[in-house]
Amino acid sequence: MPKISIVVPCFNEEESIKFFYQEMEKVEKKLKKQKVTLEIIFIDDGSIDNTLEEIKKISKKSKKVKYISFSRNFGKEAAMYAGLEYSTGDYVTVMDVDLQDPPMMIIEMYEYVKDKEYDSVGVRRVTRKGEPFIRSFFAKIFYKLINKISKVEMVDGARDFRLMSRQMVNAVLSMKEYNRYSKGLFNFVGFKTKWLEYENIKRVHGKTKWNFWGLFLYAMDGIIAFTTAPLTIATIIGVIFCLVSFIAIIFIIIKTLIWNDPTSGWPSMVCIMFFLSGIQLFCTGIGGLYLSKTYLETKKRPIYIIKEQK
Ligand code: UDP
Ligand code: MG
Repeated sequence: MPKISIVVPCFNEEESIKFFYQEMEKVEKKLKKQKVTLEIIFIDDGSIDNTLEEIKKISKKSKKVKYISFSRNFGKEAAMYAGLEYSTGDYVTVMDVDLQDPPMMIIEMYEYVKDKEYDSVGVRRVTRKGEPFIRSFFAKIFYKLINKISKVEMVDGARDFRLMSRQMVNAVLSMKEYNRYSKGLFNFVGFKTKWLEYENIKRVHGKTKWNFWGLFLYAMDGIIAFTTAPLTIATIIGVIFCLVSFIAIIFIIIKTLIWNDPTSGWPSMVCIMFFLSGIQLFCTGIGGLYLSKTYLETKKRPIYIIKEQK
């Protein structure tokens, strides 16, 4: 019998777990008719509330519920990686515990992968209703930008909720990088993906773990992980400024020789100096960002550390 593994990262989600599990039981009943079994893997990402206790309560009742508990908060990316590694199903999906990923969609998703027609079925939100305007606005700009400068396509509104074949999961797991940006990794591995669309659903309980700054840094991670275009842009800016300064020097020499006109204009000089040192710092910063990521990769620290598991 084919098995679907559901990986559920949880960070301080004590209110949501019960409701999530209730929904999964409904899904399980429907899948049983198609002779498909389920495995649910909760990843407690170093929660400081009763998340782990809630998970344990459920896993005591049901054999199909497993869990991994981290020694501290390692982030959703690490939780997803651990879950994918631990999963044993023929198909695997990651899901938010807050029910923002409609559980019943698994049944529709399974239809596309069961006959090997597709290797994965992704879900994308076509609206961002209920989300702060600023967040949607910057998300749109981010996707436009990254798709222009990166070869790997990032689908706007795509969630991590994506049913993947074992072959595809193994491909994702073969990338053991420390700075993980799964939205890109899922697309990087290729394979045939079917996209299903749905309208944004609000969180049932609790609050989002993302703030604006966190999302901004995550977006930067995505850009640095999937394109070196900023380095090229910095180089091009450097070349352009060299050319401009060369032309300016020739202009000043000729002006002085022909008209014997002493160069004047300290204020403009100061402005130019500020402008150029700004550009220099900006470009060095870009180089530094890439270097810092390389530094973190070379340390080969573990992506997560487990405290207990079942
Ligand atoms: N999450 C996690 N570790 C973190 C932050 C979030 O495991 O450090 C989990 C969280 O419990 C939830 C999922 O990742 O199940 C998505 O988080 P959230 O709902 O806050 O993000 P949003 O849906 O607002 O993008
Ligand atoms: Mg959510």
